[in-house]
Amino acid sequence: MTTYVWDYLAEYQNERADLLDAVETVFSSGQLVLGPSVEGFEKDFADYHGVRHCAGVDNGTNAVKLGLQALGVGPGDEVITVANTAAPTVVAIDGTGATPVFVDVRADDYLMDATQVADAVTPRTKALLPVHLYGQCVDMAPLRKVAEEHGLVVLEDCAQAHGARHHGELAGTLGDAAAFSFYPTKVLGAYGDGGAVLTDDESVVGELRRLRYYGMEDVYYVVQTPGHNSRLDEVQAEILRRKLTRLDRYIEGRRAVARRYAEGLAGLATSHGLVLPSTTHGNDHVYYVYVVRHPRRDEIIEALKGYGISLNISYPWPVHTMTGFAHLGYTKGSLPVTEQLADEIFSLPMYPTLALDVQDKVIAALHEVLRAL
Ligand SMILES: *Cc1c(COP(=O)(O)O)cnc(C)c1O
Repeated sequence: MTTYVWDYLAEYQNERADLLDAVETVFSSGQLVLGPSVEGFEKDFADYHGVRHCAGVDNGTNAVKLGLQALGVGPGDEVITVANTAAPTVVAIDGTGATPVFVDVRADDYLMDATQVADAVTPRTKALLPVHLYGQCVDMAPLRKVAEEHGLVVLEDCAQAHGARHHGELAGTLGDAAAFSFYPTKVLGAYGDGGAVLTDDESVVGELRRLRYYGMEDVYYVVQTPGHNSRLDEVQAEILRRKLTRLDRYIEGRRAVARRYAEGLAGLATSHGLVLPSTTHGNDHVYYVYVVRHPRRDEIIEALKGYGISLNISYPWPVHTMTGFAHLGYTKGSLPVTEQLADEIFSLPMYPTLALDVQDKVIAALHEVLRAL
């Protein structure tokens, strides 16, 4: 049997009765769209973070897009972010009509290099979009300083950072608004698509509710400015509501896997150049993915296939080098750290129900493969 980086079937086995009860709850409620489960999940998710408002949306990409739009971002504006991210971060910026502007990432934690942001600000800059990639947070203090100095809004991309903390504060509470994805692989995953935006600002959440509902001010009202149909599905909301009560346990499970990898792979880090993930001071990592790094990455991945282990790369193509963003004018070499990482990083299997013997299989195979290189 092949081992993949992610698999939800063991979780489904463990939680089947509760998940099916969630489906039954919605099907028998008499309200299939924007009903009590969406409302309940929005309240629970806001409460978990100690934030005033939450608007459920249909996926994480639209959480970023509508989040930016609700913060006033549109055509002609620039949004500063990173190219070492899931392409949807940038697709969402593009979807608002604004222009993505990239800064490089740091060589230690692979996250936005906040020291480069001030130089990227132009008179058109409207927003900063830090991505809390892999499960830990971007250094926010310098970002907030730039935002204050230039009157910019900050939207956090929290799609990979549910429950992560930064100097004790939860991801999702560190900017003007925060976008989450509940794509099934995420730390809090639905059984299908889902997303949400958190904010303390009542006018921002009002705008989000309008944007996700065709642009209508209220349910049977008229459209003044057209919006989208981007509602969080009622069934997914009920599933997420149940799973939110287990989020801290999922995170503990991920951390236990990370500890076992760190112990089992420490020798390869010292003697065979395998770079393990580092947690930046002040961060509590939730390990959405466990990213390691080696200059001979492609050979390692190929050799591991022989052990029945199929790995992923998050991400092999920096967004600024994709054909779809060629019009932004970045050439190879413009983001050197991001580009080098894309050639060297790969992700080990990581999810809370990953069996101990499979973790050990991965560790043992890596030892054999790296020694034989
Ligand atoms: C998954 C992800 C998204 C997009 O979320 P979807 O729910 O798949 O639309 C956006 N940004 C980041 C960083 C992600 O990992």
